[in-house]
Amino acid sequence: MSGENTEAVTLRRKRVQRLKRYIIRMLLFLILLPTVLCVALLIRMNRMDRVLIELTDALEMLTEESASQQETLRELMESMRTTGEGSQAESEASLEFTGYELTVPEASILPETVGISGSSEPEVTTVHKVYLTFDDGPSANTEKILDILDDYGVKATFFVVGKEEEFAREALVQIVERGHTLGIHSYSHKYAEIYSSEEYFAADFEKIQGYLEEVTGVTSSIYRFPGGSSNTVSKMDMHVFIDYLDSRGVRFYDWNVSSGDASSMQLSVKQLVKNATEGIEQRETSVILMHDAVGKRTTVEALPIIIENILAMEDTVILPITEDTMLVQHIQKDYNN
Ligand code: ZN
Repeated sequence: MSGENTEAVTLRRKRVQRLKRYIIRMLLFLILLPTVLCVALLIRMNRMDRVLIELTDALEMLTEESASQQETLRELMESMRTTGEGSQAESEASLEFTGYELTVPEASILPETVGISGSSEPEVTTVHKVYLTFDDGPSANTEKILDILDDYGVKATFFVVGKEEEFAREALVQIVERGHTLGIHSYSHKYAEIYSSEEYFAADFEKIQGYLEEVTGVTSSIYRFPGGSSNTVSKMDMHVFIDYLDSRGVRFYDWNVSSGDASSMQLSVKQLVKNATEGIEQRETSVILMHDAVGKRTTVEALPIIIENILAMEDTVILPITEDTMLVQHIQKDYNN
């Protein structure tokens, strides 16, 4: 009898243990399921975030590309006008249609002259001034760009956005310490936000200006509009923002030479060099648009060649943008206000 009892107890114990195991498995499953789902959702969210960033970048590139194309069109029409010299009222009308005007301060209209040293009788020559500008940094490429500039003893201008990671802070300090000009390119670089109202624009501007001041000690007073002042994204009249910058004593710069690296298609080093150095000898002031962004590998590779080619041109200097730099703007300031 006792043997049978023991058998029954063992059977029961086994059943209880099986049940326990079942319950534990169920519990584990119930805990794991939401965790796995959460992880899967997080991964998906991350992926979508990345897609969003890529799309935003692509939009920016398209905008900057279209701005530089409009600039080229404007230049073409300008040269057509100068060849036609007022004989055709039609060409004037179509020029107005483009709506772009290159603002030149009156004092800068006369080409600057300089005596060439080394010759016994100093000659008077026009100096071509070239400004290398890098938008969208700091990035993983900033250090490389800074090293290349150092190699050639050349100073440039960086129009930066609000990045607060440690590497970005260090890059900002380096830009200033190595003697380059620190310009502002908005904090968020989000067109939909900064161009939505004067309040948003002002808040974004103050945020980045304050941040740069905190990190570098420099109060930057030069600005480059994301997409350029001639961007076609802003629903607001750009003069609202230009007037705001003016009230803060800030000058803005567009560009009159585009390296083309804003293009979503990565251009070859050869193409970038060609784009960036074209027409410099015909211009008194050339402001070259380039990008300090992680995807722009060929820009870094092209930079030494671009610098070498420019330095090889006669009477040509590479300078950082300063208070004395001639304004290069796609859109004219509204003097009626
Ligand atoms: Zn940009």
